[in-house]
Amino acid sequence: MKIVKTAKEVREIIKEWKREGYEIGLVPTMGYLHEGHKSLIDRSVKENDKTVVSIFVNPTQFGPGEDLESYPRDLDRDAALVEEAGADLIFHPEAEEMYAEDFCTFVDMERLTKGLCGKTRPIHFRGVCTVVSKLFHIASPDRAYFGQKDAQQLAVIRRMVRDLNFGIEIVGCPIVREEDGLAKSSRNTYLSKEERQAALILSKAIFLGEQMIRDGETDAEKVKSAMIGTIESEPLAKIDYVELVDWGTLEPVQTVRGSVLGAIAVYIGTTRLIDNFLSVRE
Ligand code: AMP
Repeated sequence: MKIVKTAKEVREIIKEWKREGYEIGLVPTMGYLHEGHKSLIDRSVKENDKTVVSIFVNPTQFGPGEDLESYPRDLDRDAALVEEAGADLIFHPEAEEMYAEDFCTFVDMERLTKGLCGKTRPIHFRGVCTVVSKLFHIASPDRAYFGQKDAQQLAVIRRMVRDLNFGIEIVGCPIVREEDGLAKSSRNTYLSKEERQAALILSKAIFLGEQMIRDGETDAEKVKSAMIGTIESEPLAKIDYVELVDWGTLEPVQTVRGSVLGAIAVYIGTTRLIDNFLSVRE
């Protein structure tokens, strides 16, 4: 397994692979890898001849006052995990490699990026769409793998690929959780012992909402209220949003039918965590 730092090196390697007729899978990450990332890499290794994992803490998707500087990083550990999983290449660029000093071209999506996380993170998805477009152009994969954990991101990337004719298959992968239910996240490392316990309120609310719908509840307001009540029972938790939205448009729904995403963002102390469930029903 190779680690390269420039787009030029990636292109040269990919060109050679394409000449051999290999199919290529791409797994974009910000590093500090865990079992959630590994599930994406495993799937890519299974479905493609070659797998590229990008590790890049992308500055353009962080707003002022967010955790760009403190975001956890450990390339040696990440490289060991990626190699063990059987991937072939890590692309680990510096910010200057991805963004020239006079960089001024962005991919900005309307509608889908305005609600949910887009409300409190107004420039986030512009940064995500821009960096993912760049990675797609650099690695020209056949398939790219994204986690359902970041459900809005997955919906946004799918739409971008369709709208801009990228011709790349986007594969969504299920949320990987800790044994007690907490969705795995690099940001969980920010939590103190007490906060780690309090963070369980997210998955508790998610499982409750999911179960209510499975039991036949169709009134979105009722599901939301129950989820909000659960989260508010935890003194260390502060709600950013609790929403039930249509999985296609990401617009809030009043009645649960078709594919509905239940999504939440909650501060535990100063750490902002997200979780969600997807309910598919007629
Ligand atoms: P990140 O490094 O946080 O940007 O995540 C890179 C990719 O891994 C994204 O597509 C995430 O949705 C996915 N991912 C992160 N955590 C999980 C998880 N717990 N389960 C499944 N996928 C995940």
